[in-house]
Amino acid sequence: MNIVLFGPPGSGKGTQAIKLAEKYEIPHVSTGDILRENLKRQTALGLEAKKYMDRGELVPDGVLIGIIKDRLAQPDCDSGCIFDGYPRTIPQAEVLETILNELGKTLDVVVNIEVPDVEVLKRISGRRMCACGASYHILFNRPEQEGICDLCGCKLYQREDDKETAVLNRLAVYKKQSQPLIEYYRQKGVLVTVDGTAEIQAVFDEISAALDTVPAT
Ligand code: ADP
Ligand code: AMP
Repeated sequence: MNIVLFGPPGSGKGTQAIKLAEKYEIPHVSTGDILRENLKRQTALGLEAKKYMDRGELVPDGVLIGIIKDRLAQPDCDSGCIFDGYPRTIPQAEVLETILNELGKTLDVVVNIEVPDVEVLKRISGRRMCACGASYHILFNRPEQEGICDLCGCKLYQREDDKETAVLNRLAVYKKQSQPLIEYYRQKGVLVTVDGTAEIQAVFDEISAALDTVPAT
């Protein structure tokens, strides 16, 4: 099953993707994590992406196409995957459809996680990340041991682009460039909308219930 988790920054895509990947035994493909990992390794791609990420802007579509093409070609994606943070523009969605078609696959469902701006701002200001992709919150989703990832034991950090100016820009960019995808996918008949303001487990249960009705491809 190929699933896109869609929603504004801070809506809980990464949090839900990790849980869904475990339940459905398919990989979690986060373009944000791939870019941050490239930045950590100081690759040319990572250094190029940093210019955009620090300002809260989207990395150009051309850069993302290569990333998603390479990732989907890996054998662990054969039975599908959970996209988190991709697509973010209509051209990216068109590219995804083409790549999946070339591989004889389809996009089964797009889960639109709805969370209002005021909640997004609270979540992002308290978010703490791990390099493994796990995300915590200093109030709403605390790790067992303060500052340490429950999954891999690494030290948590605050993302550079979670500082206030970048966050406001990311929200504006989401509304302008990404939100049109909601109508795009509604028209394709694959959109499911869930209330992302509930507790993490309740959101997970709602998404799982929706996914369980989707026929496996
Ligand atoms: P995204 O991947 O969409 O940017 P994250 O999954 O990183 O969002 O979640 C953003 C922040 O909100 C994190 O600090 C996370 O722990 C917290 N969070 C995620 N889901 C919920 C929820 N349902 N209720 C409260 N906090 C949440
Ligand atoms: P995320 O971890 O999904 O919040 O992404 C962090 C940042 O990485 C975004 O603000 C963008 O700068 C960049 N990014 C991640 N995914 C994409 C994408 N699909 N298209 C463009 N930029 C992206």
